[in-house]
Amino acid sequence: MLISMMIILFYFGAIMGSFYLVIATRLPKNEDVLVSRSHCDNCKAILKWYQLIPLFSYLFLRKCPICKCKIPSINFLIEMFTGIIFAFIYYSFYNPATTLGFTTNTFIGLIIASLVVIIFITDFKYLMILDSPLVISSILVFIIKWYSLGFIGALKSVGTGLLIFAIMYIFGTVCSKIFKKEALGGGDIKFSFVLGMILGIKMSFIAIILSAFLALPVSVASLLITKNNEVPFGPFLVGALFIVFVYFEKFNNILILLFSI
Ligand SMILES: [Zn+2]
Repeated sequence: MLISMMIILFYFGAIMGSFYLVIATRLPKNEDVLVSRSHCDNCKAILKWYQLIPLFSYLFLRKCPICKCKIPSINFLIEMFTGIIFAFIYYSFYNPATTLGFTTNTFIGLIIASLVVIIFITDFKYLMILDSPLVISSILVFIIKWYSLGFIGALKSVGTGLLIFAIMYIFGTVCSKIFKKEALGGGDIKFSFVLGMILGIKMSFIAIILSAFLALPVSVASLLITKNNEVPFGPFLVGALFIVFVYFEKFNNILILLFSI
């Protein structure tokens, strides 16, 4: 069952990936997401249903039937990537004792995986983190925590989110004063609310430190190659959230070994 469910989760991820691609490319330009139909970016011809099947459309069509332009391979890569991380989350939190192997962590993991895809696209492409995915994620995480920990437990996670948000806000403001330029984007600070809600205080700090370690070589490389040190921080924050959430126990064990806390 594990394998067949992983295949289902993979394809579900590919479907969600193509939806996230639409959200992440249309919302920053203030285009509506639900009403206007998907169209060819080149000739604007409205796509038919068989041109909208995640993965397969790209593999079998490869070009727009009207203007014959090539369908960008990035669409295919994003669908593949989302499918792979959805299947990976299912595998990581698989529990044979539960219905279809799902656990509450599976659902939170899928929310994080969705944020990874959306933030990677919007922050690299438009240097922004959209509010709506953060709001929807926070509400979903609250509902899942309410279901698994009770109402008080869910409220506590909101409190932790606010605390991490406040710490990042103060840290960002102080750094901006010292370096005389914006150190942390508003989106990064809002994102830290979701981070705190999901990981709790201790692991949020681990994730923030990890994100800085992940971002450092990339910003150094970017500075050397393109003389530009304005690397978006969001993808590293959400990447670190993903890694710390999946390997929560391992990070916890390392902390216990290091500090006996
Ligand atoms: Zn076309």
